[in-house]
Amino acid sequence: MRVLPQKPQTTFRTQNQKVMVRQDKITYLITAFKNEGTEYRHRNEAPLECLVRTVLSQATNDGNRDRSYAALKARYPDWGALAKASLPDLELTLRSGGLARRKARTIQAVLRWAQANFGSYTLDPIAKWDTPRLFAELTKIPGIGVKTVAIVACFSLERAVFPVDVHVHRVLTRLGVTPRKLNPDQTFRTVDPFIPFSRDAMLHLNLIELGRHYCTSRQPKCSVCRFGEICDYFLQKNDWAVK
Ligand code: SF4
Repeated sequence: MRVLPQKPQTTFRTQNQKVMVRQDKITYLITAFKNEGTEYRHRNEAPLECLVRTVLSQATNDGNRDRSYAALKARYPDWGALAKASLPDLELTLRSGGLARRKARTIQAVLRWAQANFGSYTLDPIAKWDTPRLFAELTKIPGIGVKTVAIVACFSLERAVFPVDVHVHRVLTRLGVTPRKLNPDQTFRTVDPFIPFSRDAMLHLNLIELGRHYCTSRQPKCSVCRFGEICDYFLQKNDWAVK
């Protein structure tokens, strides 16, 4: 089996910490998924739209996220109106997706940041930034974390970045690709350089699906999961076996 070339290190990594990444399992997953799940509906979305949609996706499903986004677009004619909206009105608009207050504050912080840095409500200029700068600058915005920036980098800017959310983190950890002791951001920093070029989005989307439908937080459906034979959790090969 041909192993695809590794990409150069495009993001920061865990410093002074030796951790093992099971590249053989990454290759196994990529081979098993082939090109499934590559039809991401919002690919090539402008960075601001992608970032706002990602904020709206926090702690809810894709349907609620899209309904919240549609509600925003219907309520406010443009980004300027949204930036100047009263917080209670914005919260009311976002109420169906949950965490409305936090999401409203974050979205308005993003818009204020865009206006202050670029003179208008756009994030298009970030397309010219290199990937480390993307992470360094965007995570300064209150409410914007590493995962959100990684999603914008991967899906809107098509950078070689592999986003790790809670589902991806849980699955990678149970499989034994990365150690259990890491949190999602540490897992991202650790595993990202090992994901081959052009497989980032496909692997991310498929692991999310696996995490939502099989490798659920409680009572994973190991008996019908196709990755049991390489899974540390299922094979009880490490401390995941302590249930
Ligand atoms: S075998 Fe079980 S724990 Fe392992 S990836 Fe599949 S569902 Fe998750």
